Amino acid sequence: MKPEMIRTQAEKFLESVKQQQRILVTTHVSPDGDAIASLLAAAKMIHLMGSQAICFLDGGIPSHLVFLPGSGEIITSFDNAPENFDAVLAVDAATLERIGDTAKLIQPGQPIINIDHHADNPEYGHLNIIFPEAASTTEILFQIAVTLNLPIDKDLATLLYTGLVTDTGGFRYSNTSARAFQAACDLTQRGANPNQIAEAVFASNTESSIRMLTNALSNLDICHHGQIATMSVDTVEGREEPEDLAEYPLRVRGVVACALFRKKDGKTRVSLRSRGAVSVSDIAHTFGGGGHPNAAGFTVAEEIDTVRPRVIEALRQEVEKSTF
Ligand code: 5GP
Ligand code: MN
Repeated sequence: MKPEMIRTQAEKFLESVKQQQRILVTTHVSPDGDAIASLLAAAKMIHLMGSQAICFLDGGIPSHLVFLPGSGEIITSFDNAPENFDAVLAVDAATLERIGDTAKLIQPGQPIINIDHHADNPEYGHLNIIFPEAASTTEILFQIAVTLNLPIDKDLATLLYTGLVTDTGGFRYSNTSARAFQAACDLTQRGANPNQIAEAVFASNTESSIRMLTNALSNLDICHHGQIATMSVDTVEGREEPEDLAEYPLRVRGVVACALFRKKDGKTRVSLRSRGAVSVSDIAHTFGGGGHPNAAGFTVAEEIDTVRPRVIEALRQEVEKSTF
């Protein structure tokens, strides 16, 4: 994230925002902390630049993220979908398909701004601000806010910090850079409370979501010399997952790659996680999804029993490639 690159992109962003009166801000379906925090932070920044932001999301807001300032302003019902807006800003969404049915609200030719940190983002916007080296999309928004001298109050600091702490798994994953810590330090000085945010995000699960963990762990299967792990859960309508469910098998010493399978509406949603040089993003692409080297995912219209052996074989090949 070279300062001159940030400056160029930040200035283009400001120029685009100023040209539009009403901007629809959205993010990816099955949103995580970085997704919701980036959506709300971007909306605040648009207001600070003098334009109007309408927050819209296909699907509900996970209950552990409702504490985020401004979350009540996110429209999640297509019955109340905004009709009049001049441009769209998608944050943390690696492809336009990832915003789900929100894409259907976009008129042909309508300007799209794309701010993201996924290396596989195909630059689907008219303005694309992509920095794969950023730990989170909120890290990019933070750099933009600082460059443009936007006032970062406690609420904005809380949002930007939350994206950082969730996408780095509490500053533990390989994307945890000195620059991410510098941003976190700056945001803490501006009012973000690391303890309160960590409590809200990582320690406010519902009892049923923790019971889902026991359900998943009860069928944990470790194979390929203790290097690959899988587990599965039935997704029940209205029941939420703990933020880090997919990552649990990586806590077993020796496990370098894992997959979590969920049955949902006759389809299977898969989350892949890996350690170090073992990359799972190419596997996710093979199955029509995407993501980061150590955290990726996809959905297929197949039963878990059919897709599971194919995923294990793909993980096995990737592990062999990376370790020999
Ligand atoms: P999760 O497993 O937490 O849903 O997602 C992990 C990472 O993979 C995130 O960066 C997420 O955006 C990405 N990802 C998950 N599912 C898909 C998908 O179906 N398509 C694409 N392109 N990315 C996905
Ligand atoms: Mn992200």
